[in-house]
Amino acid sequence: MSAERYNAVVIGAGTAGLVTAAATAGLGGRVALIERRQMGGDCLNFGCVPSKALLASARAAHHIRHADRWGLEASEPSFSFGRVMDRMRARRAQIAPHDSQERFEKLGVEVLRGDASFLSPHEVRVENRTLRAANFVIATGTRPAIPEIDGLDSVSYFTNETIFDELSGLPKSLLILGGGPIGCEMAQAFARLGVPVTLAHRGARLLPKEDSDASVLVERILAADGVSCLLTATARQVRADSDGIVMTFRQGEKNLERRAAAILIATGRTPNTDTLNLQAAGVRSAEHGVAVNARLQTSQPHIFAAGDVAGPFRFTHVADYQARIVARNILVPFAFLQSKADYSTVPWCTYLDPEIARVGLNEDAAREQGLACDVYRLPFAEVDRAIVEDETQGFVKVLTPRGKDRILGVTLIAAHGGDLLHEFALAMRCGIGLSRISSVIHAYPTFAEIARKTGDAFQKTRLTPFAKSLFRALYERARRE
Ligand SMILES: Cc1cc2nc3c(=O)[nH]c(=O)nc-3n(C[C@H](O)[C@H](O)[C@H](O)COP(=O)(O)OP(=O)(O)OC[C@H]3O[C@@H](n4cnc5c(N)ncnc54)[C@H](O)[C@@H]3O)c2cc1C
Repeated sequence: MSAERYNAVVIGAGTAGLVTAAATAGLGGRVALIERRQMGGDCLNFGCVPSKALLASARAAHHIRHADRWGLEASEPSFSFGRVMDRMRARRAQIAPHDSQERFEKLGVEVLRGDASFLSPHEVRVENRTLRAANFVIATGTRPAIPEIDGLDSVSYFTNETIFDELSGLPKSLLILGGGPIGCEMAQAFARLGVPVTLAHRGARLLPKEDSDASVLVERILAADGVSCLLTATARQVRADSDGIVMTFRQGEKNLERRAAAILIATGRTPNTDTLNLQAAGVRSAEHGVAVNARLQTSQPHIFAAGDVAGPFRFTHVADYQARIVARNILVPFAFLQSKADYSTVPWCTYLDPEIARVGLNEDAAREQGLACDVYRLPFAEVDRAIVEDETQGFVKVLTPRGKDRILGVTLIAAHGGDLLHEFALAMRCGIGLSRISSVIHAYPTFAEIARKTGDAFQKTRLTPFAKSLFRALYERARRE
């Protein structure tokens, strides 16, 4: 093996790259990890971590503003935005050492800084070095997609890559483009921090991947926070004037104008593949990034891809899951022993308050596919803990194949919905149905009781007329004896 030959060269030090590199080095492989920006990628620097830290402060402000719900004196929260941002950065800094260059070097990974690109299927160039490897891993993630809007080049705007570090004070007003998870989360965060927010979305409903009843509830929740939602509105033009930024939208036949002091663009993601020179490697790209098979191999079997650039889901936990598969498949060279990705029980969550959590199929998708399903829908208004905590807004919805005790999917909207979801995710993964969930003792009073109640609802449907008359006869007999 020449000095520059590795078992694996991993491009990108976000979740997918970090986990692949750590696992391969941990198993004794020689690994180089290349990063052109910050270690930790999107999640740590401009994604999950800062957004959830900001949402936590916004939730606290909301609780102060609505303290009367808990029998306390409500008041307008008084705070310095600078301290809120400092707190967010401090929490981020607290997590950062886990992804740091020093930590990875201690784990035995050679970390190189620079923009990597393929020279051939077996060589990658970074700065002035050429690295050869038995395997390569493309883990280059995505960046914000910037829509084509006339005049956008001439105004300043934020994306998730800039807002957490470059926003120096609370804007007088904020216009957010994009009603997906990032747009909705940021709309709630800034609205609760006292900023008048307009959330403009091209589609007819927010969070379009979720069921329509979930979207309707999200719109209502955001409206209650003071967010003005502009749906079916396509941004066409933007200009700056002395009072801020003016954006023109097309909504049906109408042209609308909205003015704001600042703009945040959250209209989707673009894969980071343009500088990789995939052609030289013979790697086929796809619309979402890089095309992979279930083993996460690209069109070149020794080159893998993982994380956002590989799809089909763009979440940190999926990047982690895929990276573990890639590390295993690099170690095991025989196809029949290699692992395949299984996305049937991928949970996800939009961290609004209440949280919108999902695993598996939803009702709209089942209907589109023509699947015969039973739907068990229970409101949190029937859960004692939710009542005492004043958190009754959401619901759980569980889908099963008609008449069968198998969970196809769950939508859960609740405080801590993302955490509550995992009882169902585990059940799905292990083939546990609602009748067995009904038999599990759930502590009282917990939000998790919703799972047992859903199990009970399922059990009731199993009480056939024959069983009912049999039970009645048994009770009658017992009374006579
Ligand atoms: C605002 C926001 C909030 C989010 N919230 C959540 C959440 O709550 N939960 C969740 O699960 N997911 C969330 N996500 C998604 C999550 O951040 C991503 O799924 C995750 O970061 C993907 O990891 P990755 O390793 O695939 O890519 P990334 O984290 O994007 O890492 C890719 C790395 O590759 C580097 N790179 C790219 N090209 C090259 C090159 N040619 N040479 C060298 N280096 C290169 C990049 O600089 C980057 O550091 C959020 C995303 C955003 C934007």
